[in-house]
Order: sequence, then C-alpha cells, then structure tokens
Amino acid sequence: MKKLALHWKIIIGMVLGIIFGFIMNTVDGGKGFVSDWIAPFGKIFINLLKLIAVPLILASLIKGISDLKDISKIKTMGLRTIIIYVGTTLVAIVIGLTIVNTVQPGTGMSQETIEKIKMKYENDAGVTDKLMKASAQKDAGPLQALVDIFPSNIFTALGEAKMLQIIFFALFVGICLLLLPEKKAKPLVSFFDSLNEVVMKMVDLIMLFAPYAVLALMANVIVAFDDTEILVKLLWYAGCVVFGLGLMIGFYLILVSTYTKKSPVWFLKQISPAQLLAFSTSSSAATLPVTMERVEEHIGVDKEVSGFVLPVGATVNMDGTSLYQGIAAVFIMQVIWPEGLTFTNQLVIIVTALLASIGSAAVPSAGMVMLVIVLESIGFPAELLPIGLALIFAVDRPLDMCRTVVNVTGDATVSMLVAKSLGKLHEPKPVEWDDDYPKK
Ligand code: ASP
Repeated sequence: MKKLALHWKIIIGMVLGIIFGFIMNTVDGGKGFVSDWIAPFGKIFINLLKLIAVPLILASLIKGISDLKDISKIKTMGLRTIIIYVGTTLVAIVIGLTIVNTVQPGTGMSQETIEKIKMKYENDAGVTDKLMKASAQKDAGPLQALVDIFPSNIFTALGEAKMLQIIFFALFVGICLLLLPEKKAKPLVSFFDSLNEVVMKMVDLIMLFAPYAVLALMANVIVAFDDTEILVKLLWYAGCVVFGLGLMIGFYLILVSTYTKKSPVWFLKQISPAQLLAFSTSSSAATLPVTMERVEEHIGVDKEVSGFVLPVGATVNMDGTSLYQGIAAVFIMQVIWPEGLTFTNQLVIIVTALLASIGSAAVPSAGMVMLVIVLESIGFPAELLPIGLALIFAVDRPLDMCRTVVNVTGDATVSMLVAKSLGKLHEPKPVEWDDDYPKK
C-alpha cells in the first residue's frame, strides 16, 4: 500500500480534532476534559519544536556560513533577503488596505452589535493583557530594537530564545571560522555540522507525532471558542482578512513559478506540513524547525541560505500579520472612529504596520499587541483602544492561525528566491526516516 503523505496525515488529524472538539462542546464536562487531558499533548509537541529551534538555528547558520567560502556572499545574501522581505510586506499591507477600503466591512455594523461586543470584551483579560504588553513595548527608545540585536551574554540569549541575538552570534562565529585557517576551524565546523544533522533528525522524529498533536491542538481551539453569534457579526471583517491572505499566497506562488521556474503545486506540496503546523500552533517560531527541514530537504535550498533567511524571516518578516494589521486598523476606525479615516493616516499605517510586523514576536496573538502601536501612531484616541481591540478579539485566534500560515509561506518563498539568485537552489534530497523517503 502506498504510504499516506505526511500532509494528509496532518489534515486527517486536524479534521478529527475539529470534530472531536465540537462533540466535546456538547457533552457535559467535555471542555474541561479536552483542556485537562487532550490539550497537554499539543503543548508537549510545541515544546519539543521550540526545544530544537535554538540549537537548529545555531548549528545550521554556523555550518552554512562557514561553508560559504566567500565573505562578500554574506553581504549579498543579507541585503537581498532584507530587500525582498520589505518588498513582500509592503505588497501585503497595500493588498490589505485596498480590500478593507473597498469592502468597508466596518461601516454597516449596528450600534446594538457594537454595544454587545463592548460589554463582552472591553474588560476581558485578553484585551487588557494586549494593551499592557503594547505599552511596555512602546516605552523603549527608538534605537532599542537595534541594540537588542547584540547580546551581552550568549547563554542568556540562548536561554531566552532571542532569535536575532542568536542569529547575530551564529553569523559572528561563522565569519570568524571563515577567517581562520581551515585546519584550526575544522573541529568546530564538524561539531556544528554533526549537531545540525542530529537536530534535523529530531525534526523527522517529532513530526511522526504531528498528526496526533494537531488533533489535540485543534480540539482545544474549538472548545476555547464560545461565541459563534459574535463570530457571525464579524464575518465580513474576518472574510476580508482571509481573502487578503489568500491573495498573498497567490502572490507567492507567482513569485515561485516565475522566478524559480518550479511548479506552484509542487511548492505547496513540499511546504504544506509547515503550513499546517503554522495553522495549528499559531506560531512561526514553533514552526521554524519544520519550515527549515521542508525548505532544505524537500525544496532544495542550501543550508547557508535557509539557515539565515528562515530564522530572520520568522522574526522580522510577517506578511500575514501586517496585512491583518492594515485591515484591522481601518476596520476599527470604520466602526468607532470614522473621522480618523484620512489618506495620510492610511499612509502612516503602511509604515507602522511594516515596522510592527518586524517588531512582532513570532508567537500567538503578537500581531494584536503590535496593532495597538499601529493605532496609536495615527492618534487613535486612547480611551477607545479597549473598545477597538474588543471589536476584533472574538475572531483573533482563527485569524492568527491563518496569518501565521502566510508568515511561514512568505519566509519559505523568500528563501527560495534568495537561493535561486545565488545559485543555491538544488534538487532536493529526502533523507532516511523522512516522510517521503523511498522505502526499500
Ligand atoms: N502568530 C503570528 C506568528 O507567529 C504572529 C501574529 O500575527 O500574531 O507568525
């Protein structure tokens, strides 16, 4: 019998999780059962992925850079990566703003619905938590983000999984290894090479558990969802975000097929396990090891490119998040602050949503925290902020799941483009134990 492809197994797990969640919603004590006895398995899976993310970035980047042989290539790669990242993010924001201004999902909302949402979510712990996190972020100076890239203690950086600091350190070590005579560099390069292989194997093993883990994650998402009535009221807004995210995926597929000449269907098939995990976990950081494994072993991007482009992307390139921020900001204005809907404000949103997506952490719901900063940048009245967030809070989780898929797909696309431009996109070689490794 032909082996079922990994993405099908994950999809089956997701569907079963959704069905199970709905059934448990109707059973007495079902919600408690899911959160006590099922959800922890999803959490274990996410923990395992996060566990290997840091050693993976360190090992693959150090190994990749030390393989480059030519320091000037690092500069070219870095520059191209950043330019394409900024370019795709701008496209995403413009798509978002165009849709929200055309469809105007916020203009028809009745006063009664607004009041209902306000009553229910204005003082919700989730909303106040986002506002608090946003104000902590805002208090930092303008160059703090730059300062934060340079670690003063690598063990703290590793311990706290500070992605950009780890990337900086890995680049630094990789460059120094390049500058050393080969004989001196060899032991460390071999060490990181071997560590990289071990972690990649860990990804394969952890992924064997993925179909069951997504079942747990999806069941938990369903039981955590309690207000379908408000969900229906926000359908236009949510529809705009999902439609925009769909267009972004289309945009990536065009880029892949025109620039790398690879089939878009093939690309989607190779990257789909990462996309499905992004959807189930709502975290690009947790998905990163799988994205790296798919891009390197199944798409054929060289380690030196993927090891740099993907971790940087997981942290700074969030096209789905910025598209969402553009739509959410304008939607909120359409509902409760129409006088703010000026052309200048929309231009400011383009710039701040770009910066906000760079500043958003790759974890669930981070996009909503940064949305507060986007709104503040256009002078949105502070007293209306809790109401603004309340308006979109009910549908944030499903939208977060969808935008994380776009964030991850965007990173994978850019890694392919950069690899192609440097002659580092090869025929993929699935390795033993992998899901599509030919069985003997
Ligand atoms: N959850 C998203 C991610 O990890 C960030 C966000 O938009 O909230 O990519």
